[in-house]
Amino acid sequence: MTAETFIELRRQFHQIPEPGFAEVKTQQLILSYLASLPSHRLQIKTWRTGILVKVPGRNPRRCIGYRADMDGLPIREETSYGFQSRHEGYMHACGHDMHMAIALGILTHFVHHPIDDDLLFVFQPAEEGPGGALPMLESEPFRAWKPDLIFALHIAPEYPVGTIATRPGILFANTSELFIDLTGTSGHAALPHRANDMVIAASQLAIQLQSIVSRNIDPLDSVVLTIGKMEAGTKQNVIAGTARLEGTIRTLSAEAMEKVKDRIKSIVRGIEVGFGCEASIDWGANYCQVYNHPDITRAFMEWFPSETGYQLIKCREAMTGEDFGYFLSEIPGMMFWLGVETPYGLHHPKIEPNENAIPVAIDVMTRYFHHLSGNHRPAQP
Ligand SMILES: [Zn+2]
Ligand SMILES: [Zn+2]
Repeated sequence: MTAETFIELRRQFHQIPEPGFAEVKTQQLILSYLASLPSHRLQIKTWRTGILVKVPGRNPRRCIGYRADMDGLPIREETSYGFQSRHEGYMHACGHDMHMAIALGILTHFVHHPIDDDLLFVFQPAEEGPGGALPMLESEPFRAWKPDLIFALHIAPEYPVGTIATRPGILFANTSELFIDLTGTSGHAALPHRANDMVIAASQLAIQLQSIVSRNIDPLDSVVLTIGKMEAGTKQNVIAGTARLEGTIRTLSAEAMEKVKDRIKSIVRGIEVGFGCEASIDWGANYCQVYNHPDITRAFMEWFPSETGYQLIKCREAMTGEDFGYFLSEIPGMMFWLGVETPYGLHHPKIEPNENAIPVAIDVMTRYFHHLSGNHRPAQP
């Protein structure tokens, strides 16, 4: 198997981006690739649109896990690719096509060059939403094969190819969506005393929410509370009877997340009393932090530069979310950023990750799993 095989697979994934829990063609493509490998070296289970693949070790003491996410995003692609998305309005704009190709590259290596330990490859649906990690972690097939360690990577547009970045402890923030609906009474624009205006209530609410980060959170802690969308009313000369605020919360600790949510509840209750309206809060999708096991991450960071010849950066934590955090909340392990050098950020319709990062990642992880297992890696992979 050459690097081209996995670059080609990535291009095939790129053409069929599918939303969370609808990764039907993607699952099929992975299964048909796996069918081309020697079947006696693999054990395969499916869970919804996800797949678990075990590559049994020669003399297993433990099972090492590796996870790749599978879903695309509802984004209209604007790349210059000749292999653009064939699914109108959907795009692999977060690199999950790269993640799957890399996982298959690592898996293929170990099918041909077994190590002592068992390996479990986790193809996880619905990372972008509604969140596949938690239900997959709790599923019977996963529990039966639960690995003792787990690793994952995410492409990073800002770093050059041949560079990875990580840190012990928090890598990604805790995140929660936020949807608040306010219901008052609509009425004639010129008769405000007979209506209950939700434009005013929503405006007050948006402003008051800003006091949480500035007044309730330890200034040395980090929290983001953004209202990204506000909607109210129907027409310029009608008082708005309803309003909706949509936002997101990011924190670097689970405690701060709880505190922010408590404060939001109190402030919303105050708006209800103050404006005589009804309010409801929906927390939407919640992702727990990605917490890199300190010892495992330090050991990886020490091993990495001397053994691979690639560049390692100790990065800062990011306020983005990643549901791999649920795996790390139960299984020790770590995640790192893989440099793919492109001027466009994740979720951008023009993002074109550099595919040369695919063989780099396969090389890094195959070397590392040989190292973890205490087995020498063959010179010719
Ligand atoms: Zn994403
Ligand atoms: Zn992603």
